Amino acid sequence: MTSTLSGGCQCGAVRFRLVGTPGTSSVCYCRMCQKASASQALALVSLGDAGLEWTRGEASWFQSSNAVRRGFCNLCGTPLAYEAPDGLALTVLAFDDPDSVPPTIAYGVEGKRIWCDGIPALPERQTLEDPDAVSFLKTLVRFQHPDRDTEAWPPEPKP
Ligand SMILES: [Zn+2]
Ligand SMILES: [Zn+2]
Repeated sequence: MTSTLSGGCQCGAVRFRLVGTPGTSSVCYCRMCQKASASQALALVSLGDAGLEWTRGEASWFQSSNAVRRGFCNLCGTPLAYEAPDGLALTVLAFDDPDSVPPTIAYGVEGKRIWCDGIPALPERQTLEDPDAVSFLKTLVRFQHPDRDTEAWPPEPKP
């Protein structure tokens, strides 16, 4: 079965399509992946047997070591890719459906922040439980690209 997966950055300037079966999906807690994602871990899926096409724009690259460069959108900053001598990987959370490539292994766990494992035990609130959030969200206009391919972005104003 050939699957097609798409994704891209928050602003929509860079979009990608992956056709075929991706490789291993993982999270990495190392300090470089933390910094590159400004998060506790970076989830990446290797291309595997899949073919990658940049369908809108292209990633910009930061050479984060002599062996690795990291791709991102130079307009909105979304981390998009990781390229090492053994190949290219894409950031899982940049996919339109991040649940389509769930991580199966964690790397760099010695780099875990001390609060990471406590996240599932934190008190939890749904966004709409807060009445102030409800009124705020009614006024919110999102400029984030939707989780699907678009013909043009930003959308043409309707006549
Ligand atoms: Zn962007
Ligand atoms: Zn890492």
